[in-house]
Amino acid sequence: MAAKNKTDRSTAWQPATRLVHEGTLRSQFGETSEAIFLNSGYVYESAEQAEARFKGDEDGYVYSRYANPTVSMFETRMCALEGAEAARGTASGMAAVAASLLCHLKAGDHVVSGRALFGSCRYIVEDLLPRYGVTSTLVDGRDLAAWEAAVTPNTRAFFFESPTNPVLELVDIEGVAKIAKGCGALTVVDNVFATPLGQRPMALGADIVVYSATKHIDGQGRCLGGVVLGPAEFIDESLHTFLKHTGPSLSPFNAWVMLKGLETLPLRVARHNETAARIAEFLAERSEVERVFYPGRTDHPQHDLAKRQMTGGGPIVAFEIKGGKKAAFRFLNALSIFKISNNLGDAKSLATHPATTTHQRLSEEARSELGIFDTTIRLSIGLEDAGDLEADLDQALAAARG
Ligand SMILES: *Cc1c(COP(=O)(O)O)cnc(C)c1O
Repeated sequence: MAAKNKTDRSTAWQPATRLVHEGTLRSQFGETSEAIFLNSGYVYESAEQAEARFKGDEDGYVYSRYANPTVSMFETRMCALEGAEAARGTASGMAAVAASLLCHLKAGDHVVSGRALFGSCRYIVEDLLPRYGVTSTLVDGRDLAAWEAAVTPNTRAFFFESPTNPVLELVDIEGVAKIAKGCGALTVVDNVFATPLGQRPMALGADIVVYSATKHIDGQGRCLGGVVLGPAEFIDESLHTFLKHTGPSLSPFNAWVMLKGLETLPLRVARHNETAARIAEFLAERSEVERVFYPGRTDHPQHDLAKRQMTGGGPIVAFEIKGGKKAAFRFLNALSIFKISNNLGDAKSLATHPATTTHQRLSEEARSELGIFDTTIRLSIGLEDAGDLEADLDQALAAARG
């Protein structure tokens, strides 16, 4: 969408600079911080202008379900971060995932997906798409041969997360994207767990990247939002048409919160990752802990792949506690700084018991296939002092012994 005034933009800038300035549309008032354009509609100077806007002969906004200046600023800044040609904001991460698949799939198509997925992503692939005639096969995402074997003549999309939720298994993005290219399918990556700064799926061959901006992009637990990034043809045609007519638009207010979040993203992600690595080391030393899952540690079974495709080990740590569900609950209930929550990507450190919350819907068999047991705990590392977090974990682990 054309800016009324000059847009701040330079491809010569480093990411940290672009995340502060890129995409800013300054109004006639010359505001420093980006304005919130909290309007649904637009007015035209003449009937001729309205006609030209609708015909697409003149650039400009028409209706905020289609596009809005604050949302456009967020989308432009996300493109700069991801190195994508185009992007669209959505009302939530799930709206982004659903739209990225539904906008180009049709009855008779087939999707191959990693089986370790955020709960609602798994619902879309496993339950929702088949209701509309799109079949799906769930595979162990770590196994390249399984991706290859699942391909059918109708396979149109590959979908996965890496690292996965909650025990941080990795998918070889380059390897899977190559198999997808070979069969003419689009590779769609949900990149939430690595964050946009920790992993660049497009540089590894992925076509489409989706985010729940609710997580580290906002980063302070305030707003829901999502974004889909990819080639201009896919985003401006398939996705734009789908969003325009089905309506999961990103609120301009939420877009503004996300836009401001991007300004501090490099600082926050660096701190999240640094503290997460330290907490993973801390947990690995403890006798109450059975196993730690952290891609940045050399004992992670896919550590070499982590080094190849990720920068840093990521902001999430998972572990298994000794002593069964009782010990897990004693640990969670004893935490003080860490809050019990199913959310992640907040300034506040959060602890989750996946088996009884985010993955409760799955059968026990499906959970154990994903490595989720009554003893599995996921930690989203926040921005607090690392020493204070260690002290909190220390006393909660002691309490877990019962
Ligand atoms: C949170 C999350 C989603 C869904 O995002 P919402 O903003 O909650 O709709 C999708 N994928 C992953 C990996 C997530 O963590």
